[in-house]
Amino acid sequence: ADRLITPEPRPDDRVDTALRPRRLQELIGQEQVKENLSILIDAARKRGEALDHVLFYGPPGLGKTTLAHVLANEMNVSIKITAGPAVERPGDLAAILTNLHAGDVLFIDEIHRLGRVVEEVLYPAMEDYALDIIIGKGPSARSIRLKLPRFTVIGATTRLALVSAPLRARFGAVYRLEYYGLPAMMEIVRRAAERLGVGAEEGGVREIARRARGTPRVALRLLRRVRDFAQVRAEGHITQAVADEALDLLNVDPLGLDDVDRRVLRTIIEKYNGGPVGLNTIGASIGEEPDTIMDVVEPYLLQLGFLDRTPQGRTATRQAYEHLHLPFPEDPRQ
Ligand code: ADP
Repeated sequence: ADRLITPEPRPDDRVDTALRPRRLQELIGQEQVKENLSILIDAARKRGEALDHVLFYGPPGLGKTTLAHVLANEMNVSIKITAGPAVERPGDLAAILTNLHAGDVLFIDEIHRLGRVVEEVLYPAMEDYALDIIIGKGPSARSIRLKLPRFTVIGATTRLALVSAPLRARFGAVYRLEYYGLPAMMEIVRRAAERLGVGAEEGGVREIARRARGTPRVALRLLRRVRDFAQVRAEGHITQAVADEALDLLNVDPLGLDDVDRRVLRTIIEKYNGGPVGLNTIGASIGEEPDTIMDVVEPYLLQLGFLDRTPQGRTATRQAYEHLHLPFPEDPRQ
């Protein structure tokens, strides 16, 4: 679905690269991850070695790709970018690996989607900086081992559970990215507004930050839409009232929920008596991809405390009923 609040990249996000932080220090929020990374960087620099392999996980739009760029930048090395589904055959990976220089970063987005056979090429590459190649066929076939330069894999995934144990074990450092709190979100909106040259009052900044689901990518997108609205209706100035009106018009509610989120909650509440119900069932019943529900809708609703996870499925909490102005049944499980 073409959702304004989707944390996944949309074509109209392209200007974001200009707003991308380049140094660890410029990065807002994620304090604990940043501190750990700065230690990792210092240690690698002191030893004069490539950075350890790093795996980032968490919902889309929180800065995994940005962090990979920042790390490469801090280490003063180049970064090559690919994604799990793009590396179809072992030969594709071999081609990428043999083009790396010492210290380079190889960023693999959606690393949980690498095929099994490709993954097996990656193991010795990450562990021993070696590439095993089979030459010849049948009885005369033999394997030769190519040496690779020391390089760094930075993996990113929205689903840690789908990363195989042997792959996960090859990452020296694994970090979870969290949704950003309101102060960090406000700072991100404030700086982006400055860079875009649009005047935004504190109230306007807060309103955008509040509705952006703790997700920088969403914040930047909402800011651009509010800027459009402000330019057409309010002489380019973003006040709280302007942001409020623009975002209401865009159907993003005060907590950042859109139509899809509300339909998920309504389905659980109205069709399944508040739950428990499985995510696949919910997806099928509202015609949304289970992936969207799992990566995007569910984590945010859990974060808001609107859903509870039970072994039987998801249940809607009292806050969810209240947010939708629906009466909370005294015993919803009857
Ligand atoms: P992911 O790879 O997790 O999907 P990205 O790294 O592509 O997310 O980030 C999405 C957008 O949000 C980018 O435009 C990036 O510049 C911005 N962004 C992410 N994290 C931050 C941050 N901590 N501070 C400022 N901007 C950020």
